[in-house]
Amino acid sequence: MQTGAQTSIKTNVKTSVKTAKRKVVIIGGGPAGLMAAETVSQAISSDAMQLTVQTDVQVDVYDAMPSVGRKFLLAGKGGMNLTHSEPSDAFLARYGDRQQYLAGMLASFGAAELRVWAEALGVTTFIGSSGRVFPTDMKAAPLLRAWLHRLRTAGVGFHMRHRWLGWDGDALRFSTPEGEQTIQADAVVLALGGGSWARLGSDGAWVAPLQQRGIDVAPLQPANCGFDVGWSEHFRQRFAGQALITVVAHFAQDDGTPLARQGQFVMTEGGVEGSLIYALSALLRKRIASQGKAVMYLDLAPGKSAERIMQEVMHPRGSRSLSSHLQSKVGLDPLKIGLLRECLTAEQFQQPAALAAAIKALPLTLHAARPIDEAISSAGGVMFDALNDKLMLQNLPGVFCAGEMLDWEAPTGGYLLTACFASGRQAGLGVLDCLAKFT
Ligand SMILES: Cc1cc2nc3c(=O)[nH]c(=O)nc-3n(C[C@H](O)[C@H](O)[C@H](O)COP(=O)(O)OP(=O)(O)OC[C@H]3O[C@@H](n4cnc5c(N)ncnc54)[C@H](O)[C@@H]3O)c2cc1C
Repeated sequence: MQTGAQTSIKTNVKTSVKTAKRKVVIIGGGPAGLMAAETVSQAISSDAMQLTVQTDVQVDVYDAMPSVGRKFLLAGKGGMNLTHSEPSDAFLARYGDRQQYLAGMLASFGAAELRVWAEALGVTTFIGSSGRVFPTDMKAAPLLRAWLHRLRTAGVGFHMRHRWLGWDGDALRFSTPEGEQTIQADAVVLALGGGSWARLGSDGAWVAPLQQRGIDVAPLQPANCGFDVGWSEHFRQRFAGQALITVVAHFAQDDGTPLARQGQFVMTEGGVEGSLIYALSALLRKRIASQGKAVMYLDLAPGKSAERIMQEVMHPRGSRSLSSHLQSKVGLDPLKIGLLRECLTAEQFQQPAALAAAIKALPLTLHAARPIDEAISSAGGVMFDALNDKLMLQNLPGVFCAGEMLDWEAPTGGYLLTACFASGRQAGLGVLDCLAKFT
């Protein structure tokens, strides 16, 4: 990412801005695009920004879908996790090796600012027991409704069923119900989302037109996703859909550093998914890519030491079956016992030392990430080296990118939305800078 002065906007763009009302086009009406639209439109109507150039600017949002914010609304279905309350250092670390690129924008619009912003829309938030931040009513719809109302009041135009196809020269090409249209703009924000849940609009089709313009895009990959294990038919029939509660997953990172995460996850028809798996998904995906599989070790009885487990397994069980012994003495539920049977040989399961060791470190081998369309989010996207610090494409002056389509990933916990909002705002500020240079 360029950190010095911005590349200047193209000459033909410059002349058009002098002669007509300037047009800012935002493509993609998810959280990132809407935040970019808000940042530009608020500056227009606010003296506080003291941006004299903004008096004659029209902001328009274009989206391929019949309505905006569909993934945002889906995110609200299971309880909208807007952001996280942990200290900013820990928060930033969630973005892994992309944190350097996001640090600035999250410092100016991070978790605290996001909560204040939501409050101003009439949406109070609270911190849950995990530190995650939710709207008090847990929903996304009231927030989106209030936000769209504010944007419309500020003069932002909305153009639905407009699918961006790429460029024709400098003009933007859209497929619309009335046929293909081309639109000229003085500044453009692309906020087209990642590559998961295509039916909600973000299908990753933007990759090709950007690559054709010489923009470096890292391949889109599933993030916060499930993984295939390949259960036996017996295990699948008995346990698919059940949650494995309170286990610790141990995983050796590439440099050998051990990682341990406590949590829970769900057995699927063919593997595993859920918050603990999502938290490790970037590491698991990379390990599978490099070694063809990823093995994590599950502690099925985190509260008990290996010695104690050994004693309990060895304890005489009389006429009780081994399963009911493990249930009553070790406290393992049927799913944990089923997992032991699934992952151990019959001999290992009957052998006390091997069984006790497996209760504390059961190897679970993952063979493949689930397809990207099923993932909560995607990794990969427009590489930061292709952008300047205002998120403007170096190769395409006047064109900005924001949100999940940028090359970062983060676990669930509110980190995804927070970075989408922050980068949308950053791109909006970049647009304002860009327009100011060509008053
Ligand atoms: C089930 C689920 C639950 C989630 N829960 C949470 C959560 O609780 N907390 C959290 O932080 N994150 C959550 N997320 C992730 C979060 O919703 C996304 O990271 C976020 O919506 C991405 O925002 P965005 O603006 O970058 O892209 P999107 O929200 O994907 O919006 C992109 C927009 O661009 C439009 N578009 C795409 N291509 C074109 C085109 N060619 N032409 C025109 N328009 C186009 C799409 O129609 C869409 O409206 C969840 C995701 C899912 C799937």
